[in-house]
Amino acid sequence: MNLVLMGLPGAGKGTQAERIVEQYGIPHISTGDMFRAAMKEGTELGLQAKSFMDKGELVPDEVTIGIVRDRLSKEDCQKGFLLDGFPRTVPQADALENLLVDLNKKIDFVINITVDMSILMERLTGRRICKECGSTYHLVFNPPTKEGVCDRCGGELYQRADDNAETVQNRLDVNIKQQEPLLTFYETKGYLRTIDGQQDIQKVFADIEQLLGGLA
Ligand code: AMP
Repeated sequence: MNLVLMGLPGAGKGTQAERIVEQYGIPHISTGDMFRAAMKEGTELGLQAKSFMDKGELVPDEVTIGIVRDRLSKEDCQKGFLLDGFPRTVPQADALENLLVDLNKKIDFVINITVDMSILMERLTGRRICKECGSTYHLVFNPPTKEGVCDRCGGELYQRADDNAETVQNRLDVNIKQQEPLLTFYETKGYLRTIDGQQDIQKVFADIEQLLGGLA
């Protein structure tokens, strides 16, 4: 089960990714998470990524493609994978196709979760994340029981540096511009499937399960 999850920031990719990997037992490969982990560890990769991420810009393709190539070559990707946040550009999509040919694999589906712009803004600026376990909350739609504290592990909640209103607008603009040619790329290949992300979380997942039913 080789999947790519697409959708603008705030479309619910992270939430659905959690459910997909739990249900189907495949690794969740999020380039954003990999960059954030590298930043936290203070590695060379983290330092390279930070300057772009803080401005809401994309990290250069050669850096990003390199980390995905390393990750997809690992043993746990044999039975499948869920790519989240990658590819973001047509050169990245091209590189992924070539990489998968080398690994004797192909993409089964590109799942695009769609949500209106105004709703995305509201979702992103209210998002809070646990410093310890990475669980996500929303001040209005999914608040923690105790303000600022993670229900799951008691960790402190924070707002991502790139979730402030100004950077969010820039991230959405950048992503919309980048997404369009990618959607065309995958539609032409016949991989693209659209899922309505404005339904409640369970219904979105039910639609995804229905799509993946034939592969499992
Ligand atoms: P995300 O968590 O997917 O919203 O990603 C957060 C930030 O990480 C993005 O705004 C980019 O700066 C960087 N990033 C994540 N994935 C990619 C990618 N595929 N290509 C370039 N930059 C990326």
